Amino acid sequence: MQNSHILLIYTGGTIGMVKDSESGSLKPFNFSNIYEQIPVLNQFSCKIDSISFDPVIDSSNVDAEFWKKLAHIIKDNYEKYDGFVILHGTDTMAFTASALSFMLEDLYKPVILTGSQLPIGMLRTDGMENLVTSIEIASAKESSKALVPEVCICFESKLYRGNRATKYNSEYFSAYKSHNYPLLAEAGINIKFNKKAIHYPEHQKILRIYDNFCNNVSILKIFPNINKNTVSAIFKTKNLKGLIIETYGSGNAPTEDWFIKEVEQAIEKEIIVVNITQCSKGQVDMGRYETSLKLKQIGVISGQDMTTEAAITKLMLLLGQNLRYEEVKMYMLNSLAGELTS
Ligand code: ASP
Repeated sequence: MQNSHILLIYTGGTIGMVKDSESGSLKPFNFSNIYEQIPVLNQFSCKIDSISFDPVIDSSNVDAEFWKKLAHIIKDNYEKYDGFVILHGTDTMAFTASALSFMLEDLYKPVILTGSQLPIGMLRTDGMENLVTSIEIASAKESSKALVPEVCICFESKLYRGNRATKYNSEYFSAYKSHNYPLLAEAGINIKFNKKAIHYPEHQKILRIYDNFCNNVSILKIFPNINKNTVSAIFKTKNLKGLIIETYGSGNAPTEDWFIKEVEQAIEKEIIVVNITQCSKGQVDMGRYETSLKLKQIGVISGQDMTTEAAITKLMLLLGQNLRYEEVKMYMLNSLAGELTS
């Protein structure tokens, strides 16, 4: 930690918000002097520089341009810093963490996203602990190599692989869960690193970034009595290239002819259709029930145990590269950044 040099990137979110005196609602404050806002930063033995987005945003406004900007900040500063801490709104943090995990190829330095449920200036804030733990983790090294060379989310003493995390609680401080992958670290009196679960690259290669996203994608969440017109409208979306279907249980969906036909016609048009379960834990296993067998037979791709956040960002990124249909399918089925258990 002593010799580490960390770049703190402030993008917005509750962690840096203040109450608007007129409306009473939370709005982002100007982060031009972060050391005045968060004096604890002066106490670290590692060196911390900071950079702020201008304007800062509520994470509900995150888009591909935002991810691109973040990835380029990391790439441009990669040699200079040992680790990166990104302050981000909690609402879409799991999407950003997933997107970055696919964008940053051959990463060997920590990229830790954090935020808070209460603004850092409030007495009971969770932001201070989240920030301090994130900086400690981003600067942690062993034999001069990063202890967690991954894109992660650090929240309420827990470190999650970014593309495995999901926001599940909008009220309590424990806002995230990683249902299908173990914690990478947990902070108590000491920070315990779960080295078996952390990915360590064999060689330190040059960081490469992919920053082109295709947003001709959609998500269709299945529910009983779903309207045929709604389903058809999604499949008829102009230029649709990829669709995530959020199905029941282990990947099950209605077997009615009209539904199967819509999916089949889309696949014939080379639209990538991915099956993700609505369940938080577990995975898609098409063919286990009759209600998923047909989907498998017509060429729906199993999203296995990916989160929706990982699946949609991965699909957008793959479709943004000049890949052939079969290549996109192949990459969707395989782990690119530890996002699925193959
Ligand atoms: N709306 C905020 C955001 O995601 C919520 C938060 O930061 O927790 O930017």
